[in-house]
Amino acid sequence: MRKIPAPSVNPENKVFFDAASQGKLLIKKCAACGEFHHYPRAICPFCFSDKTEWRDAKGTGTVYTCSVLRRGVPEPYCIAYVTLEEGVSMLTNIVDCDLDKVSIGMKVKVVFKPTDGGPPVPMFTPA
Ligand SMILES: [Zn+2]
Repeated sequence: MRKIPAPSVNPENKVFFDAASQGKLLIKKCAACGEFHHYPRAICPFCFSDKTEWRDAKGTGTVYTCSVLRRGVPEPYCIAYVTLEEGVSMLTNIVDCDLDKVSIGMKVKVVFKPTDGGPPVPMFTPA
């Protein structure tokens, strides 16, 4: 199995990775303007309010764009932007499937993958 590097955990994303350790996907919502955003930030990127709150994401979304990396890596993998149902996009990997079948618009759902010495990271697999 591919070794996934540990994410760098900081005060802005610690809650996110604590939840990931429990198999939960969180995203941030701004209480001031109502927009979701990702990656997690203390300050809303849309209106610069600091009134951002954690919300449970459904964990389902659609592949927005994807690319399979085969050269210079020990094992091929698929890097993708997934647009969650809540409307935010996550840079992630599509896993546990035939990488040749991954396509734009494919419905996917979150799975959590262990990392090398860090908290698990959310990735996606065909729904
Ligand atoms: Zn806002």
